[in-house]
Amino acid sequence: MISKGKTIAWLTDEAQKWVNSYVRHRDSAKGWFVCISCQELKSVRQMNAGHYFAKEFYKSVRFDVDNIHGQCVRCNKYLSGNLIPYRENLLIKIGEGIYIRV
Ligand SMILES: [Zn+2]
Repeated sequence: MISKGKTIAWLTDEAQKWVNSYVRHRDSAKGWFVCISCQELKSVRQMNAGHYFAKEFYKSVRFDVDNIHGQCVRCNKYLSGNLIPYRENLLIKIGEGIYIRV
C-alpha cells in the first residue's frame, strides 16, 4: 500500500523489485532457467533480471517486461550485460518490437 512519506526513489525501487520478481518467475521453471545471453541452463540462484536497455539511462523501458529477461549473474554483472548475444536472443524471443518503444 502506498502511503504518505514514501519518496519517488523508494517507490521506484519497490516497483522494480516486483517487476524483477515477475520476470524471474516468468523465465524459470522448477528452479532452473536459461540465460538470455549465454543460453546456459543454470540454477535460479544464479539468476538476475537483466535489462537490455539499462534502467539507469532508459527510464521509459525500466519496467517494460520485454526489456527484462532472466540473465545469469556472470553475464549481467561481470560481462556488463553481455549485450551482443542478449540482442541476438532477444530478437528470437520477442522480435524487433522492443526497439520502437525506447
Ligand atoms: Zn549468462
